[in-house]
Amino acid sequence: MDVRVAIHTIWKQAVNVFFPIECAGCSKEGEWLCNACIGKIVFNNDFVCPLCGHFSFQGNTCFSCLKHSRLNGAWILGKYNDIMRTCIKHLKYYGIRDISLHLGNLMIKYLDSHFIKDNFDIIIPVPLHKRKELLRGYNQSYLLAQHVSEYYAMVFDNVSLVRKKYTQSQTKKGREKRLADLKNVFYVKNPSAISGKRILLIDDVLTTGATLSECAQALSSANAKSVWGFVLAKG
Ligand SMILES: [Zn+2]
Ligand SMILES: [Zn+2]
Repeated sequence: MDVRVAIHTIWKQAVNVFFPIECAGCSKEGEWLCNACIGKIVFNNDFVCPLCGHFSFQGNTCFSCLKHSRLNGAWILGKYNDIMRTCIKHLKYYGIRDISLHLGNLMIKYLDSHFIKDNFDIIIPVPLHKRKELLRGYNQSYLLAQHVSEYYAMVFDNVSLVRKKYTQSQTKKGREKRLADLKNVFYVKNPSAISGKRILLIDDVLTTGATLSECAQALSSANAKSVWGFVLAKG
């Protein structure tokens, strides 16, 4: 065994002794999310337009919203209930990156149950600004997207779509301010990787849909064939 791997393994075991792995939902030791708590995540089978929230066939962006967005549609994995909120908090703010494996597995289950995966050529995580990624240590959407793409052996592209502007947290802002702040935040670095491709964009939470829509704008400027979003929940 490589010395560095051995040291890391010992270090991990020591950390586990002092800070045992416990379920985000019920604090039971052993896993970041136990089976009982996974069972409390309720799949969302209501399809809505990701931008206006009105009912739409299979999550397609409605005709009215398509007039100002290049996002074809989006799927929302689960209800934003207590357990989902807790999981997302642990993933984004408490540094529990391994919870992405459990959430990624649920994403796979959702894609399988809705026969979605064959509709895409590339999986792309919604990028964080490099500064935010450095501060957090990782991009939670990257972890989810990587897990899903590995399972399906799909092309995973974490380099083509870039977030060029640092934006403050979007959660407390009004819709208008959010939309203005996100204008031209994203660009495509190498359009040849995107041209003609059907893209599945992965993010953690959908709020107004502005982030997915702005990503779709950049991707369609690089001639993407279609752009769909897939998120854990709608906040
Ligand atoms: Zn639990
Ligand atoms: Zn709409």
